[in-house]
Amino acid sequence: MSDVRVRFAPSPTGALHVGGLRTALFNYLFAKHHGGRFILRIEDTDQERFVAGAEDGIVEMLHWAGLVPDEGPHLGGDNGPYRQSERRELYAKYAARLIEQGHAYQCYVTPAELERMRAGQMEAQKSDPALLVKYDGRHRDLSDKERRRFENEGRKAVVRMRIPEPEEQIVVEDLIRGRVVFNSSQLDDQVLLKSDGFPTYHLAVVVDDHLMGITHILRAEEWLSSTPKHLYLYRWLGWEPPKTAHLPLLLNADRSKMSKRGGDTAAGVYRDKGFLPEALVNFLALLGWNPGDDREVFSLEDLIAEFTLERVGKSGSVFDLDKLNWMNQGYIGKLPPDDLYAALRPFIDRTPHAAEDEEVLRQICLIVQPSLVTLADIGGHLPFFFRPGDAPLAPELANALAGEEAQTVISAFRERLRAADGLDAPGFKEMMKAVQKETGIKGKGLWGTMRWAITREAEGPDLAKVAALFGRDKVLDRLERVLGGIDK
Ligand code: GLU
Repeated sequence: MSDVRVRFAPSPTGALHVGGLRTALFNYLFAKHHGGRFILRIEDTDQERFVAGAEDGIVEMLHWAGLVPDEGPHLGGDNGPYRQSERRELYAKYAARLIEQGHAYQCYVTPAELERMRAGQMEAQKSDPALLVKYDGRHRDLSDKERRRFENEGRKAVVRMRIPEPEEQIVVEDLIRGRVVFNSSQLDDQVLLKSDGFPTYHLAVVVDDHLMGITHILRAEEWLSSTPKHLYLYRWLGWEPPKTAHLPLLLNADRSKMSKRGGDTAAGVYRDKGFLPEALVNFLALLGWNPGDDREVFSLEDLIAEFTLERVGKSGSVFDLDKLNWMNQGYIGKLPPDDLYAALRPFIDRTPHAAEDEEVLRQICLIVQPSLVTLADIGGHLPFFFRPGDAPLAPELANALAGEEAQTVISAFRERLRAADGLDAPGFKEMMKAVQKETGIKGKGLWGTMRWAITREAEGPDLAKVAALFGRDKVLDRLERVLGGIDK
């Protein structure tokens, strides 16, 4: 056991994004690689963006992906509560301490006043582009009398951090991005506590990361610019900041930011479309991390063994759906029969064939296994196996099967099948070989013809397996129909 403690800290504002799942994965891998702990913390302080049920959805997706936290709101632990809405006294306490020390102050500026301030600054910026749009510090040094006056007016204060003057350089030594230098003059007097008593992200994240003993913060790159503000809070509260590692962006194929697009960005959409958790995890791991060679297939255990931050790059990674499809097909192809059936069963349940004989369905799953890109693809394969024998043949097919060569092949095969007790895949191949020898017809003339006659399709899964699944009688019936002219 090491003392490494990391956290995944989503806000329950909707479905878990694939980018969020990647952040969770990297945290999990880092923790497990170092024998440390992976903590789930729910950052639910933004009442306006809160979505009921979102937390459950996030927990469910983490479990689905196999990234089970060691501590969290649903699991407990020694450092809870793990929901920020349940930790409000803590934030109030540290906000009060910061005010007492002079590092924070109460600000009574109303939203309308802030808006006017902003509009004025934006106007001024037109003639001087170097001017910043930010809080102008007008309530930094209110007297007690002024404060009372605002309170008597019924105004409610927010608490803001006091970015010190004179300006200084704040250096973030990021484990991925290296040394990043910020100038304090660029920083706003950030609100720490809102007028409703809820903390902002900035105060809550610092208080919680410290109190929860977080040693490393792995999070999306968009939070890098907040880090200098957090470093001030650590300094003022006399706490040692955790190390940070800001993960590279996820990009769409056109290299735009993935978080900026609607579409299929919810991790749950991939589950519902029939991607296996192993495939999605493997795929997400390679978005930012690389093993240093050209290997691409990694189980979660492999990833835990190999994951290090040194192998996480700075540049954005493209979310390449073709690659995810390829990976998923590979993982589906390797599933043992029982696991395959269990994975496919929910997708079979969505089709009109859900009530078919289970043994037949199991066989079908095995037959189509190599061609499944997603689990949902099973739905497109099932009708093929359940088409009634007397369904009319397409005219071109009927014509082709009526030709001399086709009739020769089919009747030669029929004779052999009649003489057999049953039909299995090796037996089917044997008979085909014998028919080839007997008639001298091979290739498409043999295999294509038999495929048409048996399945009524030009393409499909392995014919010997399909024939074996249909069985002697059904295959014989289909051949008789073609020979006997029933279909013509
Ligand atoms: N609550 C933030 C989010 O939703 C967490 C940022 C962080 O990890 O510090 O992404």
